[in-house]
Amino acid sequence: MYNLTIAEIAAGLRAKKFSSEEITHVFLTRIKQYDARLNSFITVTEEAALVAAREADQHYANGTAGLLTGVPMAQKDIFCTTGVKTSCASHMLDNFIAPYDATVVTRFKQAGMVMLGKTNMDEFAMGSSNENSYYGSVKNPWDLTRVPGGSSGGSAAAVAARLTPMATGTDTGGSIRQPAALCNLTGIKPTYGRVSRYGMIAFASSLDQGGPLNRTAEDAALMLNVMAGFDEKDSTSVDRPVPDYSATLNNSLAGLKIGLPKEYFVKELDPQVAAAIDAAVKEYEKLGATIHSISLPNVHLSIPAYYVIAPAECSSNLARYDGVRFGYRCENPKDLEDLYKRSRGEGFGAEVKRRIMIGAYVLSAGYYDAYYLKAQQIRSLIKNDFLEAFKQVDVILGPTTLSPAFKLGEKADDPVSMYLNDIFTIAANLAGIPGMSIPAGFVDNLPIGMQLMGNYFEEARLLNVAHQYQKVTDWHLKIPGGF
Ligand code: GLN
Repeated sequence: MYNLTIAEIAAGLRAKKFSSEEITHVFLTRIKQYDARLNSFITVTEEAALVAAREADQHYANGTAGLLTGVPMAQKDIFCTTGVKTSCASHMLDNFIAPYDATVVTRFKQAGMVMLGKTNMDEFAMGSSNENSYYGSVKNPWDLTRVPGGSSGGSAAAVAARLTPMATGTDTGGSIRQPAALCNLTGIKPTYGRVSRYGMIAFASSLDQGGPLNRTAEDAALMLNVMAGFDEKDSTSVDRPVPDYSATLNNSLAGLKIGLPKEYFVKELDPQVAAAIDAAVKEYEKLGATIHSISLPNVHLSIPAYYVIAPAECSSNLARYDGVRFGYRCENPKDLEDLYKRSRGEGFGAEVKRRIMIGAYVLSAGYYDAYYLKAQQIRSLIKNDFLEAFKQVDVILGPTTLSPAFKLGEKADDPVSMYLNDIFTIAANLAGIPGMSIPAGFVDNLPIGMQLMGNYFEEARLLNVAHQYQKVTDWHLKIPGGF
């Protein structure tokens, strides 16, 4: 039962093949059995999950169940959950019990889905390897000596190992797509503003966007149907109707124009990854798509622009953790200044402190124009590159990462090499367009991902393009050995 997709679990529940309590129990048992190896959960909410599952079963008995009632899922520990620890994988929030639900959490509850627990992540979503968690690093189920990617690495590892059929993620510079690629999953970062950020702990507010991590595009469509939509509590949420993402999954790809950006096929790209992407492109040609070479001339500036903008916004967002209002407070402060300094010094991990310092620096009076303003100008150029490209093509296709999952510890002491990991994903966040990663093959038994990017609010098209590929390939069906 643990290998069922969301769509299959929902169908099984409707057909009364099993109850929500049974399927919830299956996943809770697997978490107990396997998570010691992976460290993918920070909190498991076993009792609450079983209560919710029994309630769901009551709905089935009464005929009041919805499409997804009783289907288990997990939340990245960045989403506030009433009465449940919401740590953002930081010592700073280790003692924080959220007093309210994020809108995303409310929506899953309204859909009747059952939360199994909260998944591990990089502290405050800063990282690409899940080694920056206060609760320890997460292991990749395909190879326990390797990283699952980050920052949504706990979510990705848990879904890949079939400890939950889906988990939420957030993507500021690639944190849904990169772990999806490294763990053989389907992950979508929607258009900025499509999914509410209310109650999603802020890292870089102009880039952060929540989305689902799933095994299939069909499931991703179901989950985005739950997550997407206007929220008056989030002033950057876009008031625009949400299509039924499941309805167009089977549209034909005949005549679809796919763009391959020459900047994504660089010499640093692992040749085996390049070969896998080439093979995927051939599949699309068979499905009737036409392939076009395009250029995104400014995307090579994505990383430097991002590592000014994201730290700037983070330094401002994380100013709220002052040891006074909530979160960690140091022991026996001498005075107020000592309280601030030591609470923040002891509460934040090294990477978070590095970003706060960079952010404070680039925003300081003497450097604002040279760094922050420049980065914002580059951001406009990158956005324009995409707008130009989408005049010529319908979707943009390329690799999600340069190579498969790297070893734990391999880049941990080298922040710049870690930052380079997101070379293909960050541009979509800077522009605010939707991006998706889907399984596209294996290199030395490690999964790799193919990235699809679309124009603003074209999530339905990305899901359609992904689903059609998954109908003719079986990469996404592979299970990591030992799970
Ligand atoms: N790896 C990138 C960073 O560390 C992106 C993280 C994210 O998308 N949350 O900032």
